[in-house]
Amino acid sequence: MKKLLCTFAALLIVAAAVCCSLVGCSANKMQTATKNGDTYTIVAGYDDNAHVLSAMQTVQITNRSENTLDAIKFHIYANQYRQDAQNGVVPAGYKSQAYPNGESYGDIALDSVKADGVAVAYTVEGTDMDILSVPLGKTLYPDEQTTIEMTYQVTLANIKHRLGYTDATVNLGNFYPILCHIDNGAYSCTPYYCIGDPFVSDVANYNVTITLPQDYTVAATGNIQEANSANGNVTYTYSADAVRDFAMVLSKQYKKLTRQTDGIEVNYYYYADTDPETSLATACDMMQLLNANVGKYPYRQLSVAETEFCYGGMEYPNITMITSGSSAYREAIAHETAHQWFYGVVGNNQITDAWLDEGLCEFVTYLYMDKSGIAPLSQKMMAGIKTYTTYVDVLNRYYENVDRSLRPIDAYKNDSEYVIFTYIKGSLLFNTLYETMGEAKFWKALSDYYNCGQFEIATSALLCDCFAQCGGKELATIINSFVEGTEIMGKITD
Ligand SMILES: [Zn+2]
Repeated sequence: MKKLLCTFAALLIVAAAVCCSLVGCSANKMQTATKNGDTYTIVAGYDDNAHVLSAMQTVQITNRSENTLDAIKFHIYANQYRQDAQNGVVPAGYKSQAYPNGESYGDIALDSVKADGVAVAYTVEGTDMDILSVPLGKTLYPDEQTTIEMTYQVTLANIKHRLGYTDATVNLGNFYPILCHIDNGAYSCTPYYCIGDPFVSDVANYNVTITLPQDYTVAATGNIQEANSANGNVTYTYSADAVRDFAMVLSKQYKKLTRQTDGIEVNYYYYADTDPETSLATACDMMQLLNANVGKYPYRQLSVAETEFCYGGMEYPNITMITSGSSAYREAIAHETAHQWFYGVVGNNQITDAWLDEGLCEFVTYLYMDKSGIAPLSQKMMAGIKTYTTYVDVLNRYYENVDRSLRPIDAYKNDSEYVIFTYIKGSLLFNTLYETMGEAKFWKALSDYYNCGQFEIATSALLCDCFAQCGGKELATIINSFVEGTEIMGKITD
């Protein structure tokens, strides 16, 4: 996601611990990830009068944990938009910009669920009814397979959020039941926190068909396979291999620009942007920078979708949502494009380690802006130091032992603190590494991180290993000092 904040200075470091060992890196992980991934097949229809998406979904699942499973668990994030949800989808301070016509609600209604062809008594669990638990009626041993089928209707709220409709666009992010990630042998049934991107998911393969009125244009994850018209509707079929999620944005107003970049099709879907060529060029330039220095984007297309959204933008595999009219539009495009590498290809737990993808995407965006002549890197970093140190100074006046660590998103006091630590302090961490080791070694370390973490859930330990191998073990010490909150920020000249 892209959040905004501002201001000044530069830095230094000091402090703690060390990390672990580099895992083996192989060349063609895309094929392996595709072969090992679970497969989702979704056949959906969108009723744009009722704002309801009806779907049949089949998921072929292999138990890749070391434990037996008696039930399969899915996040059903659409239920977070319910009226009686205890945790709203946006912080209270964002409600006025999220709801264009007053508060509005949505949900997911399940009709039937089958496990291996047999109807089962599924349960909807969690504080906000956001976990679907499907009993298998048997024990699924490691490496055994099962198939879950379900039908459901998702009612959309009138909200500028990941999932919702407005007059201009329909955002279909997190609309379908997605498998919970298994962590240490157990399902991670985390709630939908209203700050940050509260997600962690494994790469999987998708076949998605959507039928909708023919005046809609669809921007989506994956590659279009077919488009068939009948009775005033169009049915689009997409396939996507080895992606962490599947999302779409619909609009009747979309125009489209396309440019090939390093053999990848970059599409820009827009309706209000008055300078679409520059917006498309921003995504293409960022893609070239990361292709050249970090590693090649492994998919065939990337779609950048201008839309209605309450923050700056949102990342999904192969597609980004960019907020129409944002004051930092190009910055948001660059940031969300960077997420294709960090979050998309190299995954991380965005709940426990949000700084890993947000801090990194923010910093490489500043690097891109510097190289493109949009804004000097030093100016951005000085602004970041000023914001971060001022925030900590203010807290220090009121509290003892202020926590300066990079924490899980639910451990921040509020959205502002989450932004200052995850984005700003996170980018300062990467700038410190960049200044300490120099540009060439910085890119080499990131390239190693990209190669080693592809299609996996990467950790700070892997990041430490890659930077320590390229720049010496003090680089791991720098990373850990920022994570633990023992870093020392000093002033350096511009
Ligand atoms: Zn982001």
